[in-house]
Amino acid sequence: MNTQATLTAHFGYKLVDWYQSNSRDLPWRRTRDPYPIWLSEVILQQTRVVQGRPYYERFMQAFPDIHALAAASEKEVLALWQGLGYYSRARNMHATARTIVLEYGGKFPASYRELIGLRGVGDYTASAIASFAFDEQTPVVDGNVFRVLSRYYGIFEDIANPASRNLFKKAAAMAMPPGQAATFNQAIMEFGALQCTPVSPLCPSCPVNSTCYAFRHEAQSMLPVKNKKTQVKERHIHYVVLCRNGSIAMKERTGKDIWEGLFDFLEVEAGAAPDWPAVLPEDLARFSPTPVSGPAKHLLTHRRLLISFSMLELPETVSLPAELQWYTPGEIKELPKPLPINRFLKDFL
Ligand code: SF4
Repeated sequence: MNTQATLTAHFGYKLVDWYQSNSRDLPWRRTRDPYPIWLSEVILQQTRVVQGRPYYERFMQAFPDIHALAAASEKEVLALWQGLGYYSRARNMHATARTIVLEYGGKFPASYRELIGLRGVGDYTASAIASFAFDEQTPVVDGNVFRVLSRYYGIFEDIANPASRNLFKKAAAMAMPPGQAATFNQAIMEFGALQCTPVSPLCPSCPVNSTCYAFRHEAQSMLPVKNKKTQVKERHIHYVVLCRNGSIAMKERTGKDIWEGLFDFLEVEAGAAPDWPAVLPEDLARFSPTPVSGPAKHLLTHRRLLISFSMLELPETVSLPAELQWYTPGEIKELPKPLPINRFLKDFL
């Protein structure tokens, strides 16, 4: 074995050793069943373990297996997903559950190659399921893995460049001890989450510090390199909460915009201060909604939303715009809604 290969194998075994005594006991790690593994991975792409765990538990309780998830309505799935954001992930997950039931008889495909063909399953998720559930020697690469590998090996490739992924996958594959794909993949991600953290990594107690490039060159804060800046668009959203006799008018969001399939209020997209007569639907143009909150900032992956809420008690004589419908507070509770709408309802109603 040459020096580089020895160093690489040493790194892999050290991580596995570290994992045996430092890993967190998480429910999806106690199983080889691909369904909970997949569910946890989809949720954890959206949030951290602490916030994601209650979501995982609620999903497992409501839909204990792939058949139950496939049989659920989209509304039920989105309602449980509320607060995680990026709702297309939940819709893809639901569609994939149906595909697995209808086309694979309810059994997950057992290889990376087949898994990656499923809707919403990318390189990371396919590798995670293939290794954790089926022991395939395929490395996972997520944000934690990019960080650990770039620091340990001194890899200065830009991780925002899609072409870099293969390089990192090769580095991970070389470090993976034979026959230990599942443990090694868990280990390197856990190591990134707990030891080699983005800020202030725990280098003095790190089991691989003597051979770590970043530690020896004090380059921890320079790695990983990430150059691409995502363009953030700003949108001013003004919600007009129409009320009548204790009911509230809501609509389902359709089209390829944010929060598709979730419910919100009458919405006007205008500048910071809307000219109500000009922007409200014709039948409502003579009213002046009463401002109640906002603008509050809400960040999505590529958007900065500035959201304000106004209220308007709508007289019986005025009809509701076609896309809206009256809902009682009890009915509203059951509807899937974006986080800012849930917050508003909690604070003001
Ligand atoms: S020495 Fe520090 S930078 Fe290097 S792998 Fe360990 S924790 Fe990460």
